[in-house]
Amino acid sequence: MQTYEIGLVPGPVSVPPELRAVYQINYGSADLEDEFLRLYQRCETHLGKILATRNRVVIKTGEGMIALWSGLKSVLRPGDKVLAVANGVFGYGIGDMASQIGMEVEVVDFGYDDVPDPQQVREAAQRFRPQLVTAVHCETPSGTLASLEEIGAICREVDALFYVDFVSSGGGVEVRVDDWYIDLGLLGSQKVLSLPPDLAMVTVSERAWEAVEEVAYVGYDSLAPWKTVAKDGHFPYTHNWHGMAGLLMATRLILNEGLAVAFRRHADVAAYCRGRMQAMGIELYPVSEEICSPTVTAAKIPVGWSWENLDQELRVRGLVVGGSYGPLAGKVFRIGHMGSQAKRELVEGGMDILEEVLNSK
Ligand SMILES: *Cc1c(COP(=O)(O)O)cnc(C)c1O
Repeated sequence: MQTYEIGLVPGPVSVPPELRAVYQINYGSADLEDEFLRLYQRCETHLGKILATRNRVVIKTGEGMIALWSGLKSVLRPGDKVLAVANGVFGYGIGDMASQIGMEVEVVDFGYDDVPDPQQVREAAQRFRPQLVTAVHCETPSGTLASLEEIGAICREVDALFYVDFVSSGGGVEVRVDDWYIDLGLLGSQKVLSLPPDLAMVTVSERAWEAVEEVAYVGYDSLAPWKTVAKDGHFPYTHNWHGMAGLLMATRLILNEGLAVAFRRHADVAAYCRGRMQAMGIELYPVSEEICSPTVTAAKIPVGWSWENLDQELRVRGLVVGGSYGPLAGKVFRIGHMGSQAKRELVEGGMDILEEVLNSK
């Protein structure tokens, strides 16, 4: 397997040694030991602090996508109305997923390089009257970060549930689940938490649990069996003890650092990365710098380069970064500075290589 000295892919991110160490241990059976239930409860408490919520946080085996499917399928019945607020690959993709499982979907369309305008969302929500509104906090393929509080308030105005993908922001940027009226908040282990793609997390509000009970969806990805697991320890399948031990350590690292300090570290590294790129004459992809995410920087591929050539030249010098997806493939490249990769020295090393490559032509 090829490895690189400097890994700046926007997920999965590098797993640091202190988290890798947790995977070297032989644990007992998650089905049999009370110790596992206590571990689960502690992880839930830590996540509640990081995401500013008193809601239950369901922690499942899988990765980010299972949280996305789980949230949709557990609270909707075919024919229900979903308003998909879309400003990037994941926002449009969530709308497509809801269509595929039989929902009536309307998309509030903001393109790929901007963030949602709450007034347009309000107009659409008041007219369409959805059961569920979906949005994405950090659109990883575009490098943007949306404001969610006003959209959350709109969901309450029209009595819709608010479903938010914060897979690539949670832990690295302030996320306030309760203050932003988020009913279903979605997170994966392989982004800011810097673990392997092992776990999916879903914050579930009381309103969302009511919908879960009413819909009573049955399936591997259903939220229904998780309502009481943190109390009774009746997990619907053998859980991933290694992943959960990693999650305890990952969340502890963030809380010990201090949330404000961790958020500042991400913001500072991101500002540094943008500054270096702009100094090289590279154009950022989002319409303005204010909406750039502290966890990932997306920029236009420099003139005279194709993504393939750039990627190849960077790899030769030991740097691996991300391309992008969907309509952005071949146009945008990305630097992932989240979690273990939100380090000034690491990004500095990466930017030095990028500069050297651009100057070599
Ligand atoms: C990474 C990511 C996901 C989950 O995708 P995976 O296939 O689990 O990596 C979902 N939403 C966003 C915004 C992401 O960045």
